[in-house]
Amino acid sequence: MQKKYDVAVVGGGPIGGSVAERIAEKKFKVAIFEQNKQVGEPLKCAGLVTPRVFDFVDFSEELVVQNKVKGANIHSPSGYTLTIGGDKVHAFVIDRVKFDQEIINNSKKNGAEIFLGNKILSAQKHEQHIELITSQKTEVECRLLIGADGPYSKMRDIFALPRPIEFLRGMGAEITGANLDPDYVEIFVGNKIAPGFFAWIIPTNEQGTNARIGLCINQDSAYPPKHYFSNFFKNGHTSQYLENIEITNHIGGVVPLGALRKTCASNMMLVGDAAAQVKPTSGGGIYTGLLCAKHCSSVAVEALQKNNFTLRFLKKYHKLWSVDIGVELNMGMKFRKIFKNLSDKQMDKYITKFQNPKITEIITKHGDIDHPSKLVKPLLKKAPSLLKLIPNIIKE
Ligand SMILES: Cc1cc2nc3c(=O)[nH]c(=O)nc-3n(C[C@H](O)[C@H](O)[C@H](O)COP(=O)(O)OP(=O)(O)OC[C@H]3O[C@@H](n4cnc5c(N)ncnc54)[C@H](O)[C@@H]3O)c2cc1C
Repeated sequence: MQKKYDVAVVGGGPIGGSVAERIAEKKFKVAIFEQNKQVGEPLKCAGLVTPRVFDFVDFSEELVVQNKVKGANIHSPSGYTLTIGGDKVHAFVIDRVKFDQEIINNSKKNGAEIFLGNKILSAQKHEQHIELITSQKTEVECRLLIGADGPYSKMRDIFALPRPIEFLRGMGAEITGANLDPDYVEIFVGNKIAPGFFAWIIPTNEQGTNARIGLCINQDSAYPPKHYFSNFFKNGHTSQYLENIEITNHIGGVVPLGALRKTCASNMMLVGDAAAQVKPTSGGGIYTGLLCAKHCSSVAVEALQKNNFTLRFLKKYHKLWSVDIGVELNMGMKFRKIFKNLSDKQMDKYITKFQNPKITEIITKHGDIDHPSKLVKPLLKKAPSLLKLIPNIIKE
């Protein structure tokens, strides 16, 4: 059986779904191929996003927002706490499964077809089109292929596009019976807690009893994520929140970091986690992926209208997302390099240093999870001694 489409999207995550929704809206024939049998499952996300994510989706936030967060308590390895935030809502906690389903439903409403339980096994480039074979033995022909197939993208490898610089390994759970301030996210740093990244507790209801907890670690950490995750419960600083909890669901996954320097080939584009369009400071990829999905679909529509799928033409997509968010992502990799090399002692020292109310006020006012670089200038103005910490960034 052979099926013909203008566009085949590999991966029915939020980013593939968003690209499909936007292209199908322009009446092109679009198909999404998703290897899993259910959209959004298994869960591999903490579900913390900024409100601006809702600028990119066509449904009301009320459908998926479980809680609204006004700040964060950042806990150092020795238990010093830096509190940032105030009265303003800084982030939403979303039901990520429902979020993905809403996006896919909208793409279907626009005419996209979705094939669940269909893993793309191969992709073959021909002169004018690409041929795919699915695990259900369906042959698919498309004019344009969108690789939105996540961190370990097969499409990226088939089309010989570069790989992300790093893959963080994540593990977490959904819990009930917690004892949390629902307005605050708890963040824990330290080389024994989550080497190279951080651990989190994110309240998912207004009572502070339900939460998503988890951590991400460097790929070359001494132990697997399971080790750090079980230690998380034994850590003296977390017991006040997690004493009587029950795990209701497990979360696992990989976060690719280091946005690709090349994200298209002739007749194909790569988007979302497949292109490592992820914030290196937080591991968040929903906002950045949706932003890139907007550029990907606008170039795709233009290519379809002009019947031009050359690399030269599709490069416009790479340029658009790079100008929009590429600098921020590169800057994030530089912040990450500094953070990754901090010892526990240094983390304690800097968190204590940041406890100064003048500094927390600046962080609360200018801090933006999606654009962390916006904080650098006002922070350095207030605390020039931090300059010593970031020589590389200043040089550039
Ligand atoms: C532990 C953890 C916590 C996170 N927390 C947050 C957070 O709080 N906020 C945030 O913004 N981001 C978070 N992220 C990142 C976020 O989950 C990703 O950036 C986001 O899912 C990217 O969407 P995507 O559509 O690009 O990829 P994915 O969501 O990975 O979707 C890709 C899809 O492609 C499918 N697929 C793969 N290969 C094939 C194939 N060959 N054929 C068919 N289908 C295929 C997969 O099954 C998958 O459904 C977290 C990630 C992890 C691991």
